[in-house]
Amino acid sequence: MNKYLEQLVSLSKIDQEIDSFEPKIESINKNLKEVENKIDKINIQLNNYDDEIKDIQNQKSQNNTHILEFSAKIKEFSKKSAMVKTEKEANALKIEEDIAKEQLDAANDEIIRLDKILENKESYKKELFTEKEDLEKQLEQIKLEVQEQMKVLEKDRMNVYDKKTKLVEEMNQKVLGFYEKIRKWAKNTAVVPVKKQACYGCFMRIYDKTYLSIIKGEEIVTCPHCGRILYKESQEN
Ligand SMILES: [Zn+2]
Repeated sequence: MNKYLEQLVSLSKIDQEIDSFEPKIESINKNLKEVENKIDKINIQLNNYDDEIKDIQNQKSQNNTHILEFSAKIKEFSKKSAMVKTEKEANALKIEEDIAKEQLDAANDEIIRLDKILENKESYKKELFTEKEDLEKQLEQIKLEVQEQMKVLEKDRMNVYDKKTKLVEEMNQKVLGFYEKIRKWAKNTAVVPVKKQACYGCFMRIYDKTYLSIIKGEEIVTCPHCGRILYKESQEN
């Protein structure tokens, strides 16, 4: 095979390897991100609970104020009732007093209701905290694993980059420029094999004459359909 073509085939394989690191890194970090997202969601929920709890506590303190008012009213009524002169007056006062008592009862019931809601929210919060703690422990573990995997991957990546640097230094600048131009649009398929007399970039059939020169491998041949650089894999007939 032509030396330049041989270098191009190697270079394209190295570039493919380099490009394969991104998805590898993504998949290594996938777990980490998932757990981080879960923790973020729990933090949002916890904040919501805190807001709701604050709101209920406000309602409770308003109710407590009402209770004080109603109690004061009722005390006032009992003072007044000692001073009433007619039955009509007494009845009217009684009605007012009953209303105040009912309001007091309702306010007390409301406090009980709000306390129950508070209790529920606090227990949900507790559950979420426990869940969050578990996730944080998991996250620590995952972080260690990711670190280990990334170390290995970084080493591989450095090796591949070294290989590329060495190869590029040896290559003809014109040939390299030609390759880079194709790579701009063809990405990882700038240099493709020909299999069953078809271009493995666009899968179109290669004409006999072009095919022959590809088999000879004496010069750099591009696909007449798509423009990718073509080569014949040695192991294929
Ligand atoms: Zn093609």
